[in-house]
Amino acid sequence: MSDAALSAGPTTNAPAPEPAPASASEPAPASAPAPAPAPAPAPADAPAEASTSAALQEGSSFADVSHYFAEAANRLGIDDGLRTVVQMPEREVQVQIPVRLSDGRMHVFTGYRVQHNSARGPYKGGLRYHEQVSLDEVRALAALMTWKTAIVDIPFGGAKGGVDCIAHDLSDDELELVTRVFVDRTADVLGPNHDIPAPDVNTGPAVMSWIMDEYGKLHGDNPAVVTGKPVSLGGSVGRESATGRGVVLAFQEAARALDLQPSATRVVVQGFGNVGSWAAQIATESGCKVIGVSNTSGAIHSQAGIDPNALLAHIAQGGTLVEYAQAAHAQGVEQITPRELLALECEVLIPAALGGVIHADNAGAVRARMLVEGANNPTTPQADAILGDRGVLVIPDVLANAGGVIVSYFEWAQNLQHFSWDAQEVNDRLATRMRRAYAQVAERAHANQTSMRIAAYELGIGRVVEAGRMRRHSGYV
Ligand code: NAD
Repeated sequence: MSDAALSAGPTTNAPAPEPAPASASEPAPASAPAPAPAPAPAPADAPAEASTSAALQEGSSFADVSHYFAEAANRLGIDDGLRTVVQMPEREVQVQIPVRLSDGRMHVFTGYRVQHNSARGPYKGGLRYHEQVSLDEVRALAALMTWKTAIVDIPFGGAKGGVDCIAHDLSDDELELVTRVFVDRTADVLGPNHDIPAPDVNTGPAVMSWIMDEYGKLHGDNPAVVTGKPVSLGGSVGRESATGRGVVLAFQEAARALDLQPSATRVVVQGFGNVGSWAAQIATESGCKVIGVSNTSGAIHSQAGIDPNALLAHIAQGGTLVEYAQAAHAQGVEQITPRELLALECEVLIPAALGGVIHADNAGAVRARMLVEGANNPTTPQADAILGDRGVLVIPDVLANAGGVIVSYFEWAQNLQHFSWDAQEVNDRLATRMRRAYAQVAERAHANQTSMRIAAYELGIGRVVEAGRMRRHSGYV
């Protein structure tokens, strides 16, 4: 998946533009995109060790994340012992998930929950259903959550979960069974004050409802055990759109600093699920033009702009992007290859699908002014260096896609208070936190002449180390 370099090298990414003062502008809420559908079986495979060296094998997602960690930790002067404590997960849980499929076969899926760090609060992180899920990937995603929650300064640690299934081949009933067995077998390490899951790839409000319900049967009803629930079950308004909204808020901050007007901002989105479709809608509402979109069914381009709402309606009816291009050909929409999509000339490129998609072989073709990482871990270290050399501003995942966990924090806080906020309050508070975090990272990057990514990691790691020392957690003192 990746071309990881294992040791820290010099920071080569483009330094951030000088930070601009915060603005009060706020995109309006948009209508909901279609939820991603359901699942199919894959062979269960058993992972692996937890030692640092074994976990850092070349080509691993965790090695990629650790590359950035090492560079920031070097700059912070963190010694080897503490470095291992902070870099490695505190706990890794792997479970067997046997499910009788609708065709009568028994299939055993593998589930993971990696609890990376709890120095700043309960573990927090999404649950992913995908055929590429592995312990290595979940470990990398859990580490990203630790830095993300610290960078945006919310009182959580970092975790992630995953199940190795082909979600789109499973029926809703099969997905529900997978979810309930996963919760039965991990419930001892979950809880509103222990570890709080949330949606990620191929999981959404329905899966979150089943998690809440199954956990409630075992430990008593408590909506705060999971976020991203339907609003009717204690979810927060604004959670579904939050990650995409945060992505747009992040590039708006960069655009202000670069004096880039929305009307002159062409946006390309790879991945048109929760994050990508909301980012496309909110960017369009704020005056930008979405000129390219892709998903697993293909990629499309239009210099005149693609209407995200029309595209969502088409996908909700089971349509592919190729069919959309055929139907909208007269309006200038054309089918392109996924590789051509990443090479479109634009101001903002948003990878919003999976990890490792911008790599050494395609980074040189990117013609965006900024890369805004809606997905987690989309850029390999080699690609990051290439983009930096070419002057592409990279707004890193740990900052750019933090809107989801910020509103998950709001949902958790509302659940604990048995109270609910309106959309205006949620979106205003999200904007305040995103802008504050962006300003802190940009100021640090500018002051230290480093990339936004390394500045963000420095900020996050520094906060985690400080919290661990204050608590006198083992390993920190
Ligand atoms: P999703 O399942 O809703 O959507 C994923 C989209 O990516 C789908 O449209 C799918 O067709 C597309 N896709 C998959 N592989 C692709 C490929 N090779 N090329 C083009 N498109 C492809 O998932 P999501 O929740 O939107 O998550 C997307 C990314 O954002 C993930 O990396 C996730 O970790 C990250 N993220 C999600 C949230 C959240 O709140 N959902 C929060 C932070 C980060």
